[in-house]
Amino acid sequence: MMDANIIVVGAGCAGMQLINALLKLPAEQTGDILLIESNQQIIHKSWCFWTNKQSEYDFLIGKYWSELKFGSSKSDLSGEITPYRYNYINSELFFEYHNQLISSSSRVKVVHEEVKMFSSDSNLKQVHTQNNIYKAQHVYSSIIDYSTIENNKVLIWQHFKGWFIKTEQAVFKSNQATIMDFNIAQNQAVHFMYVLPFSETEALIEFTSFSSMDCYSDQEYDAYLKKYISEKFNCSYELIREERGKIPMTEFEFPACSKDGIIHIGSAAGAIKPSTGYAFNRISRHTEYLMKCFLTNNFNIKKLPGLGRFHFYDTLLLQIIQNQPEKVSVIMEQLFLNNSFKQILSFLDESTSLLQELSLFNTLPKRLFLKQVFKYVQAQL
Ligand SMILES: Cc1cc2nc3c(=O)[nH]c(=O)nc-3n(C[C@H](O)[C@H](O)[C@H](O)COP(=O)(O)OP(=O)(O)OC[C@H]3O[C@@H](n4cnc5c(N)ncnc54)[C@H](O)[C@@H]3O)c2cc1C
Repeated sequence: MMDANIIVVGAGCAGMQLINALLKLPAEQTGDILLIESNQQIIHKSWCFWTNKQSEYDFLIGKYWSELKFGSSKSDLSGEITPYRYNYINSELFFEYHNQLISSSSRVKVVHEEVKMFSSDSNLKQVHTQNNIYKAQHVYSSIIDYSTIENNKVLIWQHFKGWFIKTEQAVFKSNQATIMDFNIAQNQAVHFMYVLPFSETEALIEFTSFSSMDCYSDQEYDAYLKKYISEKFNCSYELIREERGKIPMTEFEFPACSKDGIIHIGSAAGAIKPSTGYAFNRISRHTEYLMKCFLTNNFNIKKLPGLGRFHFYDTLLLQIIQNQPEKVSVIMEQLFLNNSFKQILSFLDESTSLLQELSLFNTLPKRLFLKQVFKYVQAQL
């Protein structure tokens, strides 16, 4: 007996984007959908991503910035990014929208159980929880299996803590987001601040680290935040709420499907860009691809697009972050000093040509990258 035609495991960013896309199809095409989520309470996040065209979730964008800023010991650089926009979505609104969509649909059933394992039996896939085994024709899963990441692959954590603050004086430039400010102590790691101003008196200020540790203590994060706010803005403020998180950044190429034919989605499919930690846009593009496959009955799912040469660039940078973290602020400084924000966004979006990439690399510390390429090639032999 089949419990649903489709099972989606994980009601997070990827699971919800997939359900949203499936519910746009007629019920006869999708059949019943079962959504399995282990957490009763979803952890809220601030999602930012850049686009130069209309996107599915434009109506949820709470704020966007048309100017970006980069800070380093040499200089502060800012630039217009039109036709791009740097968009912010508060995940509370994202989940509210999807939960309403799900509760108004008779096609989707939600259960709160932890998935323990998967198996397959002839044509059907089986999803095992503590007390049940659910069967379906198609299973999509957002569970990341960290144990599959081979030991020789770089795995670094982007971990951060942010404060939503309200200041007494108008201190923020509300049309300008600071994507990286390296003007803070690096302490042999990669540290930068991220500032998203929602108005002249309200902002999310986040301390971020790339390191092999997956978190610092609250006291450490708070010390960086306090120092930065006092030095940069020198104002009194009220702390409204906090946000903490960690994002895996790895060169490991997550498989598109498991041996049982379970289709991976989101971070589990490698949607997190290894060198930046951004995933929202890549999840949207992957969802579109999965829907095309579903509609053409093609379940020979390919790895996320964007591997190839971009994966090689990401790997080089990850290896430098791991082995020479003190060099990262210099690389970023060279990148931003010598290229426009638009060129950088387009490169990070993996939409540049090889020629454009070569001209961008020409602006970076060449010996450092050549050494890393040499080590990379040696490791492949
Ligand atoms: C705090 C934070 C801020 C971020 N900000 C940005 C950003 O600004 N821009 C950007 O592009 N990316 C950002 N990211 C990265 C990425 O977009 C998010 O991590 C995104 O949520 C990944 O989507 P996902 O569906 O793969 O995972 P999740 O959203 O984490 O969803 C996975 C779901 O699966 C459930 N689950 C896991 N295991 C099981 C199990 N065994 N059984 C049942 N359910 C299970 C989890 O409870 C969870 O609800 C951020 C990440 C974090 C943590």
